[in-house]
Amino acid sequence: MARYTDSVCRMCRREGTKLFLKGEKCFSTKCAVQNRPTPPGQHGQARQRKASEYGLQLREKQKARRAYGLMEGQFKRTFVRATGMKGITGENLLQLLELRLDNVVYRSGLASSRAQGRQFVCHGLMTVNGKKVDIPSYTCKVGDVISVRSTRKDMAHFQIVKEGISRVVPQWLTTDAANLTATVNALPARDDVDLSLQENMIVEFYSR
Ligand code: SF4
Repeated sequence: MARYTDSVCRMCRREGTKLFLKGEKCFSTKCAVQNRPTPPGQHGQARQRKASEYGLQLREKQKARRAYGLMEGQFKRTFVRATGMKGITGENLLQLLELRLDNVVYRSGLASSRAQGRQFVCHGLMTVNGKKVDIPSYTCKVGDVISVRSTRKDMAHFQIVKEGISRVVPQWLTTDAANLTATVNALPARDDVDLSLQENMIVEFYSR
């Protein structure tokens, strides 16, 4: 599978906003967006031309895709799935992205970034309702209990998590740090998304 291997901070600088791709570093003074708020590359500091409507829509789509760590095909498939659901397509899209298992592992505080959440899932560290699930795109449902497998609970990372989660856990999730479990209480609402995204522009991008 294709994989992005360059510096992830470049993606934040390109989008001009924090995408929270680096765990604890994103909350420190070392964040590259704060220290170098220009687009990456040789001409990053040159005066930017005014973006077209298409350019703005493209950037918004790229921002969401990069924040959730999806390749283009996966992201478009998620969008197509959102269009088939009842309700507002843009909000459905964000809901599907939030309910991905790798994102739930991150938002619950069991992982420090979405990339780490994805790695935990791919490496078979997580269970859903007691069964191992190693598919990061697995869509969690209300009532699902996500846990760290008992054989992996003694990993150094999880020992730190057990001491308490410093990040704010969204209302649709409940985390039991001591037992390394998270429960999906409700479907995530629009306001629960921790990124500044204009989902209507993503819908417009795919509706061209
Ligand atoms: Fe890098 Fe995180 Fe800052 Fe983005 S938010 S630039 S990933 S440190």
